[in-house]
Amino acid sequence: MQTQVQNELIENTIETGKLFGMLKYLPDGQLTHAPFSLSPYSISAEDLHEMTELTSYFSELMIRVSQDWDFLDQHLGPSANTDPFLKMLLDFRMKEVTQSKQLLIQRNDFFIIKDELRNDRQGRIETKKTLSGSALRQVEINTVSASFPFLITQLARLHQNLVEQNQLEQIIPNNPLSPVVNAFAKAMQDYGSTDAVMLMVSQPEESNRFDQLGLEQLLWDEHKIRTLRKSLTEIYEIGCLREGHLVLDAKIVAVTYYRAGYTPDDFRTAEAVKGRKLIEASSTIQVPDLTMQLAGMKKIQQVLTKPEILTAFVSPEISKLCRKTFAGMYTLDEIIETPEGKLSALEFASRNPEKYVLKPQREGGGNNFFGSEIPKILAKMQKEEQNAYVLMEKIQAKTHPAILVVNGLSETTTCVSEIGRYGICFADDGVVQSNQDVGYLVRTKAENVNEGGVCSGFACLNSLSES
Ligand code: ADP
Ligand code: MG
Repeated sequence: MQTQVQNELIENTIETGKLFGMLKYLPDGQLTHAPFSLSPYSISAEDLHEMTELTSYFSELMIRVSQDWDFLDQHLGPSANTDPFLKMLLDFRMKEVTQSKQLLIQRNDFFIIKDELRNDRQGRIETKKTLSGSALRQVEINTVSASFPFLITQLARLHQNLVEQNQLEQIIPNNPLSPVVNAFAKAMQDYGSTDAVMLMVSQPEESNRFDQLGLEQLLWDEHKIRTLRKSLTEIYEIGCLREGHLVLDAKIVAVTYYRAGYTPDDFRTAEAVKGRKLIEASSTIQVPDLTMQLAGMKKIQQVLTKPEILTAFVSPEISKLCRKTFAGMYTLDEIIETPEGKLSALEFASRNPEKYVLKPQREGGGNNFFGSEIPKILAKMQKEEQNAYVLMEKIQAKTHPAILVVNGLSETTTCVSEIGRYGICFADDGVVQSNQDVGYLVRTKAENVNEGGVCSGFACLNSLSES
């Protein structure tokens, strides 16, 4: 039973969160607060240090992979044969490079595994090939639309208020928003046009609009840079090319920031496809550019778990640090060592679906298959479709109790927390010019929930505290 005092505290916190712009739209169009936790996730200094150190290594890896078209094409081509969305993306590639400058704004997501698995292979199958010694397991790296820099910064403010009122334990300070906004301002300057604008490619019905609006507002407040927010269809309808520049509303678009364009839903009309082609044909700095978006595909993540492939892109030392955090990832036809002998990953996962997550080449949540869904979808799948999916070991994340506040109601429940580190990296012609870690995201959700989306209502924004 919650006491009157607790109820009041939660109500006041919700109101302050709304004041800070921690808002989201419900499917019926009503506004509510973004879901949040009142129990910061406690992390050891060692795990936090390891995770933070990895950010720049992974950014550099993504830059290198994005520069290798043959590699991307070799590994994504077979998946594209049965995945029209991926095929469309690959076909967007222009023969000529229209912009050599890259700005990567990425988020590298991890779980911390259960304590008892720390020095174990947590049920990984190929014990000999992989390394232990890290409690981190990478879920994925987001090279496109790495969301929540505004909402999570506001949550840190909200939590800090509570800390100062002695209502919450000390949190680890967090503000990824300022560096992200400053990076956009720098990219605008690097493009070299005065009086240019930033274009935010957005989904027409975006429930996470406030995360984007907060970023736009700070870009205006701090740098007096205007942002146009348009869907791909609108970009086609009102955009044009002038001397290689993308021009919208009579303004040169120096930077195009994708908060859409990562799901087939964003390309339902022929005009939307033409909108993306128009952007590609221009010299605007795309965040991310096409090759960077492709480098973040789950198929590429799976291929990079192979040591011999990873070391083609990074030094053996960095490769080792990255690999420590990899969960097992497999193609469906891959033969793997299992407790039941040598089997195809497909066969083993069909028999042990609770050990895996089946992933198509999609972003944005709600696309993966878990548990009992896996054998059903595998049974229906044609042989040639198998290339479009990868199997990933299900990470056994450490659980903890947490108070979650969702749509005005609070509940204490056993949770898991996914921690993302934001990274910003500038490169020109593949040469890295600056590369930093700029903060974190924590999403806390009930332990039995598979997916992780905040605006879809699965997970709650959270802060870290040091254990
Ligand atoms: P998306 O691109 O849709 O965000 P993710 O790979 O991040 O795809 O998966 C979505 C969510 O599913 C994650 O936030 C996480 O909660 C859960 N998930 C994904 N992979 C795993 C895994 N290997 N083990 C446990 N949970 C996972
Ligand atoms: Mg994700």
